Amino acid sequence: MSVIEYILPFITNLLRYFIFAGLPFLIFYVFFPNTYAKSKIQLYSAKKNDFVREILHSVQTTLILVTVALLIIKSPLKTYTQFHNTISDYSLWWIPLGIIISLLLQDTYFYWVHRTLHHPKLYHRIHLTHHKSTNPSPWASYSFHVFEAIIESLFVIVLLVLIPMSKISLILFTFCAFSINVYGHLGYEIAPKWFRTSFLFEILNSSVHHNMHHSKFKGNYGLYFRIWDRIMKTENPDYVKTYDEIQKRRFP
Ligand SMILES: [Zn+2]
Ligand SMILES: [Zn+2]
Repeated sequence: MSVIEYILPFITNLLRYFIFAGLPFLIFYVFFPNTYAKSKIQLYSAKKNDFVREILHSVQTTLILVTVALLIIKSPLKTYTQFHNTISDYSLWWIPLGIIISLLLQDTYFYWVHRTLHHPKLYHRIHLTHHKSTNPSPWASYSFHVFEAIIESLFVIVLLVLIPMSKISLILFTFCAFSINVYGHLGYEIAPKWFRTSFLFEILNSSVHHNMHHSKFKGNYGLYFRIWDRIMKTENPDYVKTYDEIQKRRFP
């Protein structure tokens, strides 16, 4: 097995971080902030120091996520998982369905880990790193304390043990997951007007939803979906009102 097989995942994952977080950052924060002013969720701007801290922690998290994934899929531990290298083992329809199930599983994992990390004994030692971004930017998507990064990275074990995932499905899932994560930390609401009246609004998170978690420090613990917050009654009671205010500004 060549060294490149181990190095390539680190390079591609770091590139994904810098491209998927960097492009929205350039568009919304550097080149066209005035164009999107009405979409800004919090009216003040984060500082350069915030961006630097977010990037450094996110690079650290990326390295941890890739290391843990490689430890599973490149070692004998792989035999305990349902990970496989070719998609031909399963029908093509399994790719999108597998990704949706993966997002639901990760949202559940994240919700409960996240709520646990909000326990006062853990919050200041660990989760505070993420909450230093009270006005998050796309760079904050992976801005976690090293311990939180390790806990989040262990989700790959849960995923690969529970459901059959091909290499391509795993890569596509991580791209989807990271893109939604960037949207949640964008600092701008970009959802179309129709989203509010559709069924999707009832189950999916928005950028406002996660932004309120950063500005209010409690409530809205879900990552991709509103489902757990609604079941456990942890959604911020002002969420829909705040979302409507911002969308009213965008679509008067
Ligand atoms: Zn939190
Ligand atoms: Zn966050």
